[in-house]
Amino acid sequence: MSVETEEKLYQKRIAIHPKSVKGTFRTFKTGVLVLAYAVFFLLPWLRWDRGDGPSQAVLFDIPGRRFYIFELIVHPQDIYWLAGALIIFAWLLFFVTGVVGRAFCGYFCFQTLWTDAFMFIERWIQGDRQKRINIDKMPWNPEKISKKGLTWAAWLLFAWITGFTFTAYWTDAYGLLNDFFTGRAPYPAYFTIGFLTLTTFVVAGFVREQVCIYMCPYSRFQAVMFDKETLIPSYDYKRGEGEKGRAHLGRGLKTREERQAAGYGDCIDCGLCVQVCPTGIDIRNGLQIACINCGLCIDACNEIMDKQGWERGLIRYASEQEIETGSKPRVFKPKTIGYGLAILVVTVFLIYSILHQAPMDFSVNQVRNPLAVTLADGRVQNSYEIKINNKVPRPLRLDLGVEGLADAEIEIAGGKKDIEVPSDKLLHLLVRVKLPAGAKNSQQNFRFVLTDKDGQIKPVAMNATFNMPR
Ligand code: SF4
Ligand code: SF4
Repeated sequence: MSVETEEKLYQKRIAIHPKSVKGTFRTFKTGVLVLAYAVFFLLPWLRWDRGDGPSQAVLFDIPGRRFYIFELIVHPQDIYWLAGALIIFAWLLFFVTGVVGRAFCGYFCFQTLWTDAFMFIERWIQGDRQKRINIDKMPWNPEKISKKGLTWAAWLLFAWITGFTFTAYWTDAYGLLNDFFTGRAPYPAYFTIGFLTLTTFVVAGFVREQVCIYMCPYSRFQAVMFDKETLIPSYDYKRGEGEKGRAHLGRGLKTREERQAAGYGDCIDCGLCVQVCPTGIDIRNGLQIACINCGLCIDACNEIMDKQGWERGLIRYASEQEIETGSKPRVFKPKTIGYGLAILVVTVFLIYSILHQAPMDFSVNQVRNPLAVTLADGRVQNSYEIKINNKVPRPLRLDLGVEGLADAEIEIAGGKKDIEVPSDKLLHLLVRVKLPAGAKNSQQNFRFVLTDKDGQIKPVAMNATFNMPR
């Protein structure tokens, strides 16, 4: 008789209550978190003098089709900078992952940073691991309601600040703050803030490590970037297990010498490395998809080794090869050298391109209907649409002239004499070029030349053609 077992496709989440830990990696993680939050939350409020332009230091102005990043103004034509930055970021990720595993996940990823902050809040209100477990097990009594309620309220406030700050990068931050509370903010702003508040609250508060394990594509393909020399938080099973495996600190197994004589290793099976893990895994089971390489289990185990007076590093950053054979990994291997060089080349190109950004764009389109007009006095006139895009944060006062067209006369439609392009604005001009009667050539090539009256920008020329009537 065969017994059929039903395999469940859904596994209910078991809440993880990581224990707090002190140590090098915890300090580093907290340092990154403070720095990242300082930048993210304060940047939209920073002002920057751009003359007539927006005064927000970092502003992604979609309606105005400009990205303002301090002194840099990114126009739609400069979109390849974004492509360059994304390429650098992707290769940097490959490079770092090849050398030190999922360092991005453990220290820099938004999911890690926000989950960490939410855990800080939770610990601050409810207490450390055991207290939180006790609260979870309690019936819904006044203590549980007040502590959980306070935690969720604090999370919600933090999530709202996150959503608001993100939105403030896309519009004037001070204006948005005022408009939000007076009901005058645009609907997309309310929607974005509401959506981000909700998703941050749910994802950092409740979903947490499930994002890393089930939702994040990076955790799925990062393994292909690893090799046997990649440094990852690793449990030294040879040292930890000895011949017989792990053993608690029992009678006759207190000192290292006693343990080694009995065939046991240095792991006292205290479970602290598991208790501090934000994804709830046991590093002693080897490389796992859920390990975000945060290093907290290293801090925890070092704490235990210090208490025992034993050498640190039972769990440490080490390569698979190092744990197996003891040979140190190479940092400079063909893969990392290749990525490093590629990153260097694209970075140099990007910096060069930004530093040599053209101060203005200038385009000329000939009016084709009609192509050439004979005026009453016999002169021949061609017309051109000229666009001048001022990319510098000051007004440009320009002179327009022609080169290579003898005796040409220029007239700007509307009787304009001076060309002034406001800071960071686009100017359209209709320009008429006239040649005296009797010009012979059916077609002549020439150049429009724009000159900065203040002499701060080199003259810019654009080719054009003058046509005679057929
Ligand atoms: S096992 Fe857990 S604590 Fe250790 S590095 Fe991985 S995620 Fe962090
Ligand atoms: S913290 Fe160290 S000693 Fe304790 S169980 Fe983990 S590996 Fe073993």
